Amino acid sequence: MNIPDLPPPAQRLVIDQAALAANWRALADLAGSPGVAVGAAVKADAYGLGVDLVVPALRAAGARDFFVAHWAEARAVMAHAPAASIAVLHGVGNGPEAHFARATGVRPVLNSLLQVRHWLEAGGGPCHLMVDTGMNRLGLAPHELGDPSLGLLAIEVLHSHLASADEASAQNEAQLRLFCQCAPQVGAPRLALANSAGIALGRAYHFDLVRPGLALYGGIAHRSLADCIRPAFRLEAAVLQVRDLGAGDPVGYNATFRAPRAMRAATVCLGYADGLLRAFEGQAFLRHQGVILPVVGRISMDLVVVDCTAAPGLGEGDLVEVPWSLPQVAQASGLSHYEALTVLGRRLARVACT
Ligand SMILES: *Cc1c(COP(=O)(O)O)cnc(C)c1O
Repeated sequence: MNIPDLPPPAQRLVIDQAALAANWRALADLAGSPGVAVGAAVKADAYGLGVDLVVPALRAAGARDFFVAHWAEARAVMAHAPAASIAVLHGVGNGPEAHFARATGVRPVLNSLLQVRHWLEAGGGPCHLMVDTGMNRLGLAPHELGDPSLGLLAIEVLHSHLASADEASAQNEAQLRLFCQCAPQVGAPRLALANSAGIALGRAYHFDLVRPGLALYGGIAHRSLADCIRPAFRLEAAVLQVRDLGAGDPVGYNATFRAPRAMRAATVCLGYADGLLRAFEGQAFLRHQGVILPVVGRISMDLVVVDCTAAPGLGEGDLVEVPWSLPQVAQASGLSHYEALTVLGRRLARVACT
């Protein structure tokens, strides 16, 4: 049977590709591009916004280095960028990963001497190397950099990663100093240390390549970036039903809300499976044509009810928007900007804004 085209989606994550490009350019200005290459961390499906719209926008803006965590993520990015421009931060932990890397040309970021061995046993070739300068998460220890096996590698980029770049912490300078000591031992053609917040720490942290993620997507990784980073998406969903409530009528699971007076309520097709977490209850609101619509009662998996008394024209099929900025969501929920992005539901249709 021929399955017909889907009808237009009732919920949409609208990706602003112009804002993505503008954020990339703002970071490039800060980093002093073209001297410093500005890459993009696009792991976790571009922090939830979707690589299919994000990677083409960033490539068009000028990004030439893309970072993902997993090999499956690399395959999704390969549809939009040359394999050699993609690096997998988790490296190669076994033979099959090393063979996939060799077969595709996607670069592994090698994180341990065991990973180096997997890579060399598979035949080796161009790769990146991560040195741990104090985060104690991923990367070779500085004292391992003298290992003779490293001499057999074709290392394109030496990386390290900052643990506290979003704070004025002495750890930043300590990591910078250690990275500078490690670099000559490896002799890689390019060096990379900074994530989004690291870019805001200044020229000394930029080296040859920076790896922003959060700031590209509108997250404020460091206070000083608040003025130059724009929101890069908005979330919209349709009203499925509108009803009148009498005083005392309950709404939703467990009747946690009762109408204090006669009111109108609209049921919107958005729920916690879409990222509107129950942790937002009591603080969440939607918006229609500038009118605030407070969420009332429990947030369900697929649905939420809003008080739409103030929007008498609102009817079935109308789109309402989730008007929060990442800083607002973070403040209301206690989530980080990173989490507020990555909880966005997979089933939301990612569409480019026109
Ligand atoms: C995720 C990640 C980044 C991007 O960090 P942001 O804080 O989102 O800019 C950079 N480098 C590494 C190694 C990462 O894991």
